[in-house]
Amino acid sequence: MTITNKILSLIGFPEPVDLLRFDGENLLPESMLVVAIASKTSDIIDKSIKSLAINVIRDHSLVNEKSISALVFDASHYQSEQSFNDVYLHLSGLLTKLKINSRIVIIATSINNSQTHQEKAFSRSLLGFTKSLAKEVGRKGTTVNILYIDNDINTELDGPLSFLLSSKSTFISGQSLHIATKIKDCKVKKSKKVALVTGAAQGIGAAIAKTLARDGVKVIGLDIEPVQEMLIAAMKNIDGEAISLDISSDEAGEKLVHYLREHQLDGFDLIIHNAGITRDKTFAKMPEHWWSNTLEINLLAVMRINEYLLEHNAINDNGRIVCMSSMNGIAGQVGQTNYATSKAGLIGYVDSLAEEVSNKNITINAIAPGFIETKMTNQIPFITREMGRRMNALSQGGKTQDVAEAVAFFTQDSSYAITGQTLRVCGLNFIGA
Ligand code: NAD
Repeated sequence: MTITNKILSLIGFPEPVDLLRFDGENLLPESMLVVAIASKTSDIIDKSIKSLAINVIRDHSLVNEKSISALVFDASHYQSEQSFNDVYLHLSGLLTKLKINSRIVIIATSINNSQTHQEKAFSRSLLGFTKSLAKEVGRKGTTVNILYIDNDINTELDGPLSFLLSSKSTFISGQSLHIATKIKDCKVKKSKKVALVTGAAQGIGAAIAKTLARDGVKVIGLDIEPVQEMLIAAMKNIDGEAISLDISSDEAGEKLVHYLREHQLDGFDLIIHNAGITRDKTFAKMPEHWWSNTLEINLLAVMRINEYLLEHNAINDNGRIVCMSSMNGIAGQVGQTNYATSKAGLIGYVDSLAEEVSNKNITINAIAPGFIETKMTNQIPFITREMGRRMNALSQGGKTQDVAEAVAFFTQDSSYAITGQTLRVCGLNFIGA
């Protein structure tokens, strides 16, 4: 144990475990216990579970200590007050049977689909349960998340369930996703999708570009002129294309449409608005241009570009838009009024635009990363940095790959049932909702 880790463990931050990340192998857990207290949608959930290559066990008594690496708890039907007791009775004894780096996924009926006061209370109570359990088991690298489903789902659960059980969701814990049936699965799957990734020269953007390329996507990386060489090098590695452009320039949308025409592309299938800046200072001392530049680049440029591309039919049907928000847009941060305003604005924006683009089966979602190990976070003073990276249920910072995997998840065909939502990739940071 390093001296830093010794000091941190003395003040209550345990030594973190090595998180299991997807490296071409170890995608899904080997064995999984499925527990259902009373399910309205058991056939659908069963079908979804069967589609995964996991050894499924349904009888608790067959499970030994530390022998399973995933648990799906189907609580999608509230029957009576007994349902609360069932949560305790079915789950409390199972935690010792989980290996390190396990996945727990709870399935519940969404509040919108719950009818009575009791059902709604039960549905919401499971979120409190999820977050608390996630904080309890996080030091073992285990994650707990909840999927809220609508009553009329069919295959919509497959993609999200598989992702939350996989090693690709290693830094996502204590989070909820709502699975609705508003958007239809596309019938014809495109073999080579075209993605625009902004801020792709370095950091999270470069990781997103690499991950999408791994998944068979043609990536067009965009960044500002001063980092052109870095951008070209990053794109060369993944057989992508580079565009040097400032997203906040008035003609950004027009230049992107021009690029599509010039390269005989019908439109973008995926748009990842990742570019962003910080200009930190307390609000009282903040220069006016720091306020306006941050809002301009992080929020207003994103909205203007989307508007222009949609107006010019430059986002294909069944497209996916992902915006990069931030945990600080949810929790707030001293010295970041400008940044938090812009990142919170993105959350409101995806929520609002989702309805409008749903008629083309386009989804739009946001990701809110917590402490991610990048050049930016490396510059934070040592003690603050160490506290920042440890203040979450998993007791460590995330990697750019963790954010990239979440982006890749949102962009998949099988994520069509998720739109207008914000997913935190933060290891369940102790600050923020
Ligand atoms: P980074 O600074 O390493 O990369 C951001 C990229 O955006 C840079 O390459 C930069 O040149 C580009 N960019 C900035 N302004 C631009 C403009 N006007 N036009 C085009 N490109 C522009 O940052 P990062 O840590 O990789 O962060 C990526 C995104 O994730 C940002 O939106 C950031 O706010 C968000 N985020 C990061 C963290 C973290 O811990 N690193 C946490 C939460 C959110």
